[in-house]
Amino acid sequence: MSDSIKINKINKSRIDDVDFNTLTFGSVFTDHMLECDFIDGKWQKPVIKPYGPLSIDPSASVFHYGQAIFEGMKAYKDSDGKVWLFRPEDNWDRFNKSSKRLAIPEIPKDYFIKGIKEILKLDIDWVKKEEGSALYIRPFVIGNQHAIQAAPSNAYKFMIICSPSAPYYPGGVKVIVADKFSRAASGGVGYAKAAGNYAGQFYPTNLAKEKGFDQIIWTDSSEHKYLEEAGTMNLFFRINDTLITTPTSDTILDGITRKSIIQLCKDSNIDIQIRKITVHELKEAAKNKSLKEIFGTGTAAVISQVIGFEHLDEYFDLPDLETKYSDQLKQKLISIQTNKSTDNHNWTVCIDD
Ligand SMILES: *Cc1c(COP(=O)(O)O)cnc(C)c1O
Repeated sequence: MSDSIKINKINKSRIDDVDFNTLTFGSVFTDHMLECDFIDGKWQKPVIKPYGPLSIDPSASVFHYGQAIFEGMKAYKDSDGKVWLFRPEDNWDRFNKSSKRLAIPEIPKDYFIKGIKEILKLDIDWVKKEEGSALYIRPFVIGNQHAIQAAPSNAYKFMIICSPSAPYYPGGVKVIVADKFSRAASGGVGYAKAAGNYAGQFYPTNLAKEKGFDQIIWTDSSEHKYLEEAGTMNLFFRINDTLITTPTSDTILDGITRKSIIQLCKDSNIDIQIRKITVHELKEAAKNKSLKEIFGTGTAAVISQVIGFEHLDEYFDLPDLETKYSDQLKQKLISIQTNKSTDNHNWTVCIDD
C-alpha cells in the first residue's frame, strides 16, 4: 500500500469470465484502474478503483478539441511469478513530453510509476507467464473542462487502464510507401503520442487495406522523399549487412523499442546507421537485391517483419532469409523483458521494488 495513492479494491474479480486464449488485443480490461483529476491548478490524490465507465460532461474539451495524449507499455511475468516493467521511466518522460506539446500539465513521476506498480500488484493474476503473454498498460490524459471554448482545458483526468494481451504470432505485413497523405508535419505534434495523430491515419490506412496492404510507411510531408515510420512503429531497413534507422525528429516518435534495438545492435556488433533514408535508395536496394529486411519496432508487437512494399504502383517482395536480424534482435529483447537473460542496461524494473 502506498500513502500517496488511495485504493478501493473490487469485491470480486472478473478474471474467471475471461478466456485468456482467445483475447482480442485491447478489448478486455483488468479489475482496477487509476483515476486522478487535475482541478484548481493541481493534480489531486490518485485513486485506484474498480474498472468501469466514467461520467463526463458533453462539453468536455477532449470531445471538441482533442486535447488528449497516451502511452503504451507492457508488464511481463517471469518463471518465478515476479512482474517486470520495461524502461517505465522512459514512458513517463515521453508522457510528459507529449503533455507539454498539447499544453497539458505534467504528471509527477510517483503518480505514473507508483500508480502502475500498485495496479499491477492488485491485478497480478491478470499477468500471465506463458511465452508471449503480457499485460498492456495504457496511461492517458484527457482535457475535461466543461466549456466549449478553443483554449487549453483547466481540468484534466489522468487514468491508467490495463489489458491482458495473448501470445502474438504476427505474420509479415505488406506496406504502401506514402506518396500523398502524411502522418506528421514539421513543427507539428508527430513526436507526441497525441490521440489525433492516430485518427488522422485511419482513412489513408483504410485505402491501403482496400488495396490488400496492412499499413503505410509514412514519408516526409513536404516532398514524400524520406522514409519516416509506420502507424505505431519505428522502422529499420537492412541493406546488405547494415541496419539503417531514421533519426528521431519532431515528425518521428522516439520509440523505446527502437532505442533498445539500436543498443542491442551495438552489443551484438551489428552495423547500425542512424541516418535519413530516401524512398529512392530503398527502391534501388530492392532492385539490386541488396535490400534484405525491413521491420517495424514498437511495444505492441515488439518487432514486425515487412514482407513486401509498394510505391507508386511498383511492388517489391522482400526475401525470406534463413537468419534474420529481426528474429535475433526480437529474441534478445524479449529475453531481457521477461527476465530470462541478464539485463546489462538496467532496463527492467520489478513492481515490488
Ligand atoms: C508508440 C509509437 C511507436 C513505438 O514506440 P515504443 O516506445 O517502441 O512502443 C512508434 N511510432 C509511433 C507513431 C508510436 O505511436
